[in-house]
Amino acid sequence: MPALSPFSLPGRFWRGNLHTHSNLSDGALEPPQVIEAYKNAGYDFMMLSDHFIGHYNWPVADTRALRSNNFTTIIGSELHAPQTEVGELWHIVAAGLPLDFPPARKDETGEVLARRAHAAGAFIGIAHPAWSQLTMADGRAIDCAHAVEIYNHGCAIENDRGDGWYLLDQLLNEGKRLTAFATDDAHFKSPDYFGGWVHVKAESLGPDVLLEALKKGHYYSSQGPQIHDITVSGSEISINCSPVDNITVLCGNSRSLVRNAKAITEAAFDLKKLETGWLLTKQSPWFRVVCIDHAGKKAWSNPIWKDEL
Ligand SMILES: [Zn+2]
Ligand SMILES: [Zn+2]
Repeated sequence: MPALSPFSLPGRFWRGNLHTHSNLSDGALEPPQVIEAYKNAGYDFMMLSDHFIGHYNWPVADTRALRSNNFTTIIGSELHAPQTEVGELWHIVAAGLPLDFPPARKDETGEVLARRAHAAGAFIGIAHPAWSQLTMADGRAIDCAHAVEIYNHGCAIENDRGDGWYLLDQLLNEGKRLTAFATDDAHFKSPDYFGGWVHVKAESLGPDVLLEALKKGHYYSSQGPQIHDITVSGSEISINCSPVDNITVLCGNSRSLVRNAKAITEAAFDLKKLETGWLLTKQSPWFRVVCIDHAGKKAWSNPIWKDEL
């Protein structure tokens, strides 16, 4: 059976976090301390995403000296500009910025700032939709986004608003081919670290290689479980993962396919069953996979589009 991207691609998965703060903005630790903490926790790469505002003198953390043979860093920031529908500043993760990325202009809106970062080469992620109370109009506004932050660990433990799927799933239903990334958004003032990350498939551990893979969606997200493989043959889907108690395939309507059992490492389903249901009037052009372990920790595939199979 043909395996799907990113599982079918050459290389290996590299574990990383794209959203964490140091004392260059409102984090508690110095940049080298943050990097050291992630290295020691078994990560392969990370990005300091300090708040890109004048109050902190527009930081784009230069972490290049903290790279080593088996650990790398991506250069970037969390961008801010007016204004979301509830009247707050935008929070936009920009991974892969030049160190001299110019400050936001006074009249620059979130969508214009995001476009400027995109043009400078960045992977653009809409941060913590639930914490920010983003609406669908907000989601549509950042029209250059690559991804939506579908889990933010800091928001989850401090605000019970870690989720971003409500926004992403509906944007997918509008046809937007966005991907889904989990992060910490750690500040190290509470246990807001090592709770959500990405596994990026690439042939080597280099910042440019990782960025390219992120932009192409060659990754999945996790709080603990690992997805080893997803294959599709005809209408049959097969999933292999680390031991979990629940494997679910869900889509853009209310249908799902699910296997619940203790410590399972595989499940197979007929995708046609997503297309039948009570009062179901519209098929979903996409689906995605979630694996949930005994502790409730999840791994999430990126959305899989039927016309790309
Ligand atoms: Zn934020
Ligand atoms: Zn943040």
